[in-house]
Amino acid sequence: ARLVRESPMAYNPDNVFAKILRGETPSTKLYEDDFALAFNDIGAVLPIHVLVVPKGAYENQADFISNGSDAEVLGFWRAVSVAAELAGVVDAGYRLIVNTGDDGGQEVSHFHVHILGGRPVGRMVSD
Ligand code: AMP
Repeated sequence: ARLVRESPMAYNPDNVFAKILRGETPSTKLYEDDFALAFNDIGAVLPIHVLVVPKGAYENQADFISNGSDAEVLGFWRAVSVAAELAGVVDAGYRLIVNTGDDGGQEVSHFHVHILGGRPVGRMVSD
């Protein structure tokens, strides 16, 4: 079902996460399966800062949920949970963040989830 848009948005295949998925840009891999890749954020803001990206070309959550298959969506979110387990943050707790668009502060136009933890994450927003 197309929940949001009739056709996929223009996806820019030159974004850095697409390059990581193609192996053109290095990353420190935590987990990979058919649906997702999890790797350390290069600009970590907490002791644990992992990014999880779907393997498919989706710009953001709306694009992913509208145009991704059921298997891709389920596989991706399962991979987020596996990555959190592997990162060792499940018992202490962690925060998932999805920045979207300009106001959301999204810098990379390939859908991704941040897993943040390793210490108390703090306020939901800074101001
Ligand atoms: P966002 O603002 O949600 O789009 O987050 C983009 C994130 O990607 C930032 O936290 C960056 O530190 C991170 N990032 C950018 N380039 C790389 C890279 N080559 N490897 C790992 N993380 C990256």
